[in-house]
Amino acid sequence: MTEKAKYSFKCLGKECETQACHLREQITVTLGDISRWTAGGQLQHIIDKLIVFPDREENNLLAIAVLKKPLKENPEKSACFFYDEETKSCGILYSKPISCRTYPLAYNGSKYFVSDKNCPGVGKGEVTKEALKAAKELAEQEHTERLFTRHVLPGFYSVIMNTVAIQNQMAMSNLSEEDRAKLEELMKKAAPEPPVPETPHTETGQEGSENGTSQPSSNVNDE
Ligand code: SF4
Repeated sequence: MTEKAKYSFKCLGKECETQACHLREQITVTLGDISRWTAGGQLQHIIDKLIVFPDREENNLLAIAVLKKPLKENPEKSACFFYDEETKSCGILYSKPISCRTYPLAYNGSKYFVSDKNCPGVGKGEVTKEALKAAKELAEQEHTERLFTRHVLPGFYSVIMNTVAIQNQMAMSNLSEEDRAKLEELMKKAAPEPPVPETPHTETGQEGSENGTSQPSSNVNDE
């Protein structure tokens, strides 16, 4: 006989009133996600909806997240770019980032916790001990991948930016004086304001935390 765990969760899907998972402040992506999307052939459909940004909640360490878009029903709120407001569903359901697959369970290196008190699926349904074990393992994997991404991303980003700068310099050096002057003039006029990554906000009521998405809102370490 399968034993039930204390923590329980059942996604309410279209019946969910909050859709909090889609509206959470930051839909974190890991290098593991990118690796899986590459292997599965989905990366080309997802990559242009990802941003690298300095996470202010994590000492400006670089992180990757899915872009957000304003809700049609309430433009003051924003949701994951892949959220389909009409059908109240995820547009990349079978390729979701690991942070979405583990939601609302999270792990911070020492504790498992419910990351979002606005998810009404928490406490619903039944979770067997086996299912909870699997959910915890996935939360641990997400934590490991997130830390690895934060360690590797800054160096990787620097290499890419440096490569772009070198290529630009080489292209410039091949131009005549006159063309270079024209190009510099054009670039001055066309230079946009530096992009400001969307500031994660707290519609979901989550608080800042180790993972940059939430604080433990309820401990689920006791099975
Ligand atoms: S907030 Fe929770 S219950 Fe609602 S759709 Fe997302 S996972 Fe399901």
